[in-house]
Amino acid sequence: MDKTFKFAGVMGWPVAHSRSPVIHNFWVRQHKLQAAYGLFPVKPEHLTDAVRGIRALGIAGCNVTIPHKVAIMPMLDVIHPLARRMGAVNTVVAGVDGSLTGYNFDGYGYIQCLRDAKPDWKAGAGPVTVLGAGGAARAVVLSLLDEGAPRIRLINRTRGKAEAMAAEFGAAVEVHGWDERHEALADVALLVNTTNQGMHGHPALDLHLDRLPKTALVSDVIYIPLETPLLAAARARGNPTVNGLGMLLNQARRGFELWFGVQPQIADELRAALAATF
Ligand code: NAP
Repeated sequence: MDKTFKFAGVMGWPVAHSRSPVIHNFWVRQHKLQAAYGLFPVKPEHLTDAVRGIRALGIAGCNVTIPHKVAIMPMLDVIHPLARRMGAVNTVVAGVDGSLTGYNFDGYGYIQCLRDAKPDWKAGAGPVTVLGAGGAARAVVLSLLDEGAPRIRLINRTRGKAEAMAAEFGAAVEVHGWDERHEALADVALLVNTTNQGMHGHPALDLHLDRLPKTALVSDVIYIPLETPLLAAARARGNPTVNGLGMLLNQARRGFELWFGVQPQIADELRAALAATF
């Protein structure tokens, strides 16, 4: 193998379903790089050894997915301030000195996917309703606040998790009960689903859109299927919609650039290659 060959991958358990290799290897081929991106199936009890392995093998870095996004943090040398605020790492980059830095590009990916879909989108356009209070919600809520969202109504099945997040993120985040979710759509500029409801293998999100303004942007972080029942219902009544694929693709761009030194673009051909795997 060439000395300049670079290797990266995604660490998770299970990880076989990950579409990240399709994305990164598409860009590797497109830019004719001496590089490859693979799957690292790492059981939780092997995480410490796997992180040592990044250093020992001279790997450029990795993406980190469930269940390692939080557990890996104390094993890294540096945590980027944004990843620290998000409380999770989704990308690890090895420095020339072997030090490992943890980043989180999920929030960047989310904001960028809204901009790609609607170039004139502005976080300050009006109230936002976010459903869910898990890892994806943290990235979405924090990045929307950083972009200037004035008010976020946070609604989660388990209210206590939403309350803990609101207490951490400040007064712009107000918690509403799960039973109030239909009413909490009145006058919003953006509705975001960050729950797993509507994802392949899960029931549709139980949400009535009657109160939602027709101009509100409706976004789902789910990308399998590309159009969730929520997005289909929103599109049918005339709302603009954005699926979760752009979030996945845009967060991937940042890691790719740090590992391989090339800023990749999201071409229609790549979207089609990915869609063909669903
Ligand atoms: P997570 O931390 O496990 O959170 C799951 C969320 O779904 C929680 O808010 C949970 O509520 C809620 N939920 C689960 N079952 C529910 C039900 N029956 N009714 C209502 N709410 C329910 O997961 P995550 O990492 O945030 O991921 C959530 C979704 O985002 C997944 O579909 C994932 O694929 C997607 N995602 C996409 C991207 C992307 O790049 N596009 C990135 C990350 C995640 P409770 O707190 O009450 O359990």
